[in-house]
Amino acid sequence: MSEPAQAVAKEAVRVAASLHQLPELPYALDALEPHVDARTLEIHHGKHHASYVDNLNAALEGHPELQERTATWLVLNANKLPDDIRTSVRNNAGGHLNHSLLWKAMAPGARTRPEGPLAEAIERDFGSLGGLRKQLEAVALKAFGSAWVWLARARQDAGRLEVLVSSGHGNPLTQGYYPVLVADLWEHAYYLKHQNRRADYLKDWWNVVDWREAERLFEGSRAPSESLHFPFP
Ligand code: MN
Repeated sequence: MSEPAQAVAKEAVRVAASLHQLPELPYALDALEPHVDARTLEIHHGKHHASYVDNLNAALEGHPELQERTATWLVLNANKLPDDIRTSVRNNAGGHLNHSLLWKAMAPGARTRPEGPLAEAIERDFGSLGGLRKQLEAVALKAFGSAWVWLARARQDAGRLEVLVSSGHGNPLTQGYYPVLVADLWEHAYYLKHQNRRADYLKDWWNVVDWREAERLFEGSRAPSESLHFPFP
């Protein structure tokens, strides 16, 4: 290979490695049936999430220093982005980050209850798992339009657990909280199966919550003052 060709090839590898990629689902498309149907999951992952990844990569074109950054960094540092790409990068990096968390927040044949320190914290802050369910559903049903509902741990206040809503593709990381559990409230997450019935969708969603993943995130959150590790894209 000639020298310029080698240089071009190297550059191609470097740029390719820094492009954001759609993560594979950690289970088969029909693995969460009947609670989350295969057709919804196929479109949600393969079309919606994929488009956020594609749009993020497109928005970052011509900004090699930003292409190196993770989606989490881009969401947390939107104020450092150039004006002309800030909104697009924030929305699409948020979409990529949140959906990456979402796929892992669900699992087939998952345990129905949290254990260990997370279970204790839920009892402390909501009275019981039932108390959390009730509050999360009430908050989710009141959330207007396209949004996400979270169980998140405060970085202050002794690491108290709270239920939060973020509109668009917002993430509690930007508000001093660490995500523990998440459900997607955009209609594309449930419209095919549940049409407008968000409450029914959420009742089904509880059946596929992966409490092991929530426990992992809770353990990793290290509230309130130690430096955080983000095991996210
Ligand atoms: Mn979604």
